[in-house]
Amino acid sequence: MKQVLVLEDESSIRSFVVINLNRAGYEVLEAETGEQALACLAENPDVKVAVLDIMLPDIDGFEVCRRIRASGSNMGIIMLTARTGEMDKVTGLMTGADDYVTKPFSPTELIARVDALCRRVGGEPTVQRGDMRSGPFLLSTRNRTLEKNGQRIKLTQVEYAIIKMFMENPAIALSRESILAAVWGRDYYGELKIVDVNIRRLRIKIEDDTANPAYITTVWGYGYKWGS
Ligand code: CA
Repeated sequence: MKQVLVLEDESSIRSFVVINLNRAGYEVLEAETGEQALACLAENPDVKVAVLDIMLPDIDGFEVCRRIRASGSNMGIIMLTARTGEMDKVTGLMTGADDYVTKPFSPTELIARVDALCRRVGGEPTVQRGDMRSGPFLLSTRNRTLEKNGQRIKLTQVEYAIIKMFMENPAIALSRESILAAVWGRDYYGELKIVDVNIRRLRIKIEDDTANPAYITTVWGYGYKWGS
């Protein structure tokens, strides 16, 4: 059974999430504080997705997210954000989260997001094995890693999936909708903006000059393209 960690200090919200994830067939590990969540993840290396509340009594959800990524984990991370503060979303994503859900959320919406991330993280069988090269980049589909000029670039699973899609479609304009559908899944409930946020983060990781991107170029009013 796939394991999901739920970090939420408000017990009513936590049990609401846990009940719904259980119903959807997930084994759920619960944490009330950031430190508890990190300890729990250290003991349970097979957790596929973590759902992290942001406002917590000890360290906040962003810090938990940062520490999870710092440990080298590429598990799926979904932030639970309060309705206030658009910046929360962006900051959360910039620290390595894959997705966010705004409170109040419907169980269907949250489960769809968890399902989508689990599929992405949870080892879909790799049809194509081997390496893909493009300019200074080497993408290993076996190890799901990216190197630029021989230097490893740390990617989240979502970022990896986006780069792979680009490298499979060089010099072809890809619409934001098609990227969203391919990477997050057709049943995804989220907003197109999540594509832009991930592209912005990817550019910081791979471009020489993020102000003048050479690898991921913008196709105005449409989407993005690999190369110019
Ligand atoms: Ca809270």
